[in-house]
Amino acid sequence: AAGLARIDRDRLAALTAREQEAFIAARPRSKAAYEGAGHLFGRVPMTWMNKKAGGFPVYLATASGNRVTDIDGHEYIDFALGDTGAMAGHSHPAVVAAIEKRVRDLGGLTTMLPTEDAEWVGAELARRFKMDRWSFSLTATDANRWAIRLVRALTGKSKIVFHSYCYHGSVDESLVVVGPDGESASRPGNVGAPVDVTETSRAAEYNDLPGLERALAHGDVAAVLIEPALTNIGIVLPEPGYLEGVRALTRQYDALLIIDETHTFSAGPGGMTTAYDIEPDIVVIGKAIGGGIPTGAYGLSAEFADRALARDDLDLVDMGGVGGTLAGNPLSVAAMRATLEHVLTDEAFAHMIDTATYFTQGVDALFDEYALPWSINQLGARAEYRFARPYPLNGTQAALAADGELEDFLHLYLVNRGIMLTPFHNMALMCPATTRSDVDAHHAVFAQAIRELLGLE
Ligand code: PMP
Repeated sequence: AAGLARIDRDRLAALTAREQEAFIAARPRSKAAYEGAGHLFGRVPMTWMNKKAGGFPVYLATASGNRVTDIDGHEYIDFALGDTGAMAGHSHPAVVAAIEKRVRDLGGLTTMLPTEDAEWVGAELARRFKMDRWSFSLTATDANRWAIRLVRALTGKSKIVFHSYCYHGSVDESLVVVGPDGESASRPGNVGAPVDVTETSRAAEYNDLPGLERALAHGDVAAVLIEPALTNIGIVLPEPGYLEGVRALTRQYDALLIIDETHTFSAGPGGMTTAYDIEPDIVVIGKAIGGGIPTGAYGLSAEFADRALARDDLDLVDMGGVGGTLAGNPLSVAAMRATLEHVLTDEAFAHMIDTATYFTQGVDALFDEYALPWSINQLGARAEYRFARPYPLNGTQAALAADGELEDFLHLYLVNRGIMLTPFHNMALMCPATTRSDVDAHHAVFAQAIRELLGLE
């Protein structure tokens, strides 16, 4: 657009090369660890750790609150927070105390026996997310998977509808997008799909009620499974009336509504379900509620839970496809209780959201000051910018606004100066320990990066 700054691609490439060199030179131990990791698939413990702008990942030494150190002795202000897994901050003392008590004093890490903490957690999740009955998993992926099985079993319908460019974990059904011809199609890169995804799923664009209605009108949809705001392709927020429209359409076509709050939990103590007054049939959550210990959960209405339990053709107790041996283990339940009771409290959210607002306003001001064609959205404690202005309104538009080269440069520039963003995002998340002066530190470096990028210094 006229009057907006342009990025000189040659300058960008030269700056990125310079930052890469500096990254490598300052991290000999991380480099050696990566090069020496011949027994790991892709040299990393999990293949997505290869999302790295510097040629190898930073190797973790220690973490506390919102600070991380690497094995080369660098300290970072952590705005990635494990892509939400550490939204409570790293090793919060209340979580550590609960973990230590379970591990050291009580013992019993995996017994397949319930502990009394589980009912406390269920009641607290019910208070926050409106659902009556809760079940635990170890990941949000599994919670989604089991919720999908339940809705299929109880509705007798086969299809699940998703937003195009959603992410709900490695759930087979969810790897679906709206293709260029407007029809649902497999997400590019989908690894080893068990069946063509269009046999199980349909996609609709976010903020597109007519598109959602077309997906529902076939009459074969068991559930619509969505994040109430997209958070895995930037933060795409609902247009006025969109979420109400989704609920009305799902009711009209007799489909259930599954709300995945794993990331949108950043919106407040009860996620967007409470902050936006959504009326889900099932809520899924994971990551942050365990304060760093693996957990996930899904909640359903009492009526829905009773219907499932009354069905003696459904094996919910043994090998019917809903369950994990270590799910609901005493350690993960103790960690959830400590996190919800003492860390991610109403007061903590007020502080986190205030800090994120400060972050967002500062970035916004820089975009204005330098006339950049970029924009930032905030969802409670998280904020994310996108290389488009105005901010995209659906997943496909948001995907088109990605710019890998710019992203790599900014991530490297920041990490070289002690600021960490999520490698998969331009996302900054605030935990209870994040302060305005941490945000100021980010903004000083970010402003310097912009000035260099524009050739102003
Ligand atoms: N749901 C959402 C909305 C997510 O963003 C993610 C992970 N980014 C998941 C589910 C899956 O979580 P996990 O990888 O812990 O299973």
